[in-house]
Amino acid sequence: MSAALRIGIVGYGSGGQAAALLLSRDGHQVEVFERAPVLGPVGAGFLLQPTGLSVLWELGLLDAALAHGARVRRLHGETVAGRAVMDMRYRELHRRYFGLGLQRGALFALLDEAWQEGRRVHCGRSIVAVDHEHGLLRDADGDEHGPYDLVIVANGAASLLRGSVAPPALDRPYPWGAQWCLVERGDWAWQDELRQRYVGARRMVGMLPVGTRPGDATPRLSFFWSLPVAALDSAANQDEGAWRSAVAAVWPQAAERLRDTAVPEGLAQARYRDTVARRWHRGRAVLLGDAAHAMSPQLGQGVNMALLDALVLRDSLRSAPSLGDALAGYQRTRRAHVGIYHLWSRWLTPLFQSEYDRVAALRDRIFHPLSRVPGGRGQTLQVLTGLRRGWFGSIRQAPEFLEALERRAEA
Ligand SMILES: Cc1cc2nc3c(=O)[nH]c(=O)nc-3n(C[C@H](O)[C@H](O)[C@H](O)COP(=O)(O)OP(=O)(O)OC[C@H]3O[C@@H](n4cnc5c(N)ncnc54)[C@H](O)[C@@H]3O)c2cc1C
Repeated sequence: MSAALRIGIVGYGSGGQAAALLLSRDGHQVEVFERAPVLGPVGAGFLLQPTGLSVLWELGLLDAALAHGARVRRLHGETVAGRAVMDMRYRELHRRYFGLGLQRGALFALLDEAWQEGRRVHCGRSIVAVDHEHGLLRDADGDEHGPYDLVIVANGAASLLRGSVAPPALDRPYPWGAQWCLVERGDWAWQDELRQRYVGARRMVGMLPVGTRPGDATPRLSFFWSLPVAALDSAANQDEGAWRSAVAAVWPQAAERLRDTAVPEGLAQARYRDTVARRWHRGRAVLLGDAAHAMSPQLGQGVNMALLDALVLRDSLRSAPSLGDALAGYQRTRRAHVGIYHLWSRWLTPLFQSEYDRVAALRDRIFHPLSRVPGGRGQTLQVLTGLRRGWFGSIRQAPEFLEALERRAEA
């Protein structure tokens, strides 16, 4: 397709941002509607995998991301007694690979600053209805927007708009969520590792180095504390002393990093959903990011997936003869990647966030030994790094991207 399209995007999270940037660079007229009154990121930090890094490379933002983020070379999880449950190094998969811990604010600012030409963002506009046939949007004030040739629904895991494409095959909240926040890195001992500590599947602390963000040169860590959703707002969880003691019992060094954090006010809450969309497009509307495939963050892939969605959608629009063909091609390509992650995350989540003590005990005993079985280790690493495609396939990375990583790997 060579024609410039009028495109309306619902949601300015990572997926909506990347789509806006990629599609306006291709000459399309893009307009974004964001519910929040002020643009900005939500949450603390996250891990970009080689998949997500390749999209930033395509966007010409790899160096800027590397300048802010923290290179993560090892994924390590252990029980409080010090028994390893997970211990993976990126270089075991490929000498050029690493993950990049990033603050949400850093990715937000990089994508936001890069989109200047033809920029049209409407804040404080909550879209409540999508007319896929005519490409129209209606907001909560009753105003209508469009018509658009293409409407991209990128409004996140709790999207109420995905049903306007098709009723989802599955859409349920997970019973467990988390509290998370950024803390100063200081003299933290594990500056290039994602570290987690577990007590069965009931308690988990995660610490991820996430570097700096534009306008703030203080290196930080992203702290994650697992909790049942029902406990997030409970009176017991509002008691600062009890909360700090609970964290310290799992990981004293992590609790010490939180000494300047206001509890609970300084902690953001996270709830997640498991959503399988029957179809990703209908008429002029298409789903992207968590709106298309929300899953628990256990495998840390959601931002990476949303970035890849945006890139594949751009490429499909470039190469397909019609809009219908482009959207069908986009769905086909992305589903082949996302499906297996849905399955793995659904299967893994109760092993790390549940009250199944026996299952957790088994996990503690067999996970690490299993990951050392010849052949199994490479497979596990492919899943963790986001490169798995289907049961046995893998995503091919452009040689130019691998060379770009090589040049920057040791920096
Ligand atoms: C605790 C936690 C840790 C995570 N860790 C990782 C990680 O390490 N790596 C990783 O890759 N992923 C991680 N994820 C997943 C990742 O955060 C999501 O998958 C990703 O943010 C999805 O991006 P998105 O653009 O699809 O949606 P979102 O980022 O949710 O953006 C949706 C946007 O739409 C807006 N919106 C919502 N409704 C409307 C409406 N009706 N009208 C207009 N605007 C609307 C919202 O305000 C928001 O700005 C984690 C998630 C959690 C909760």
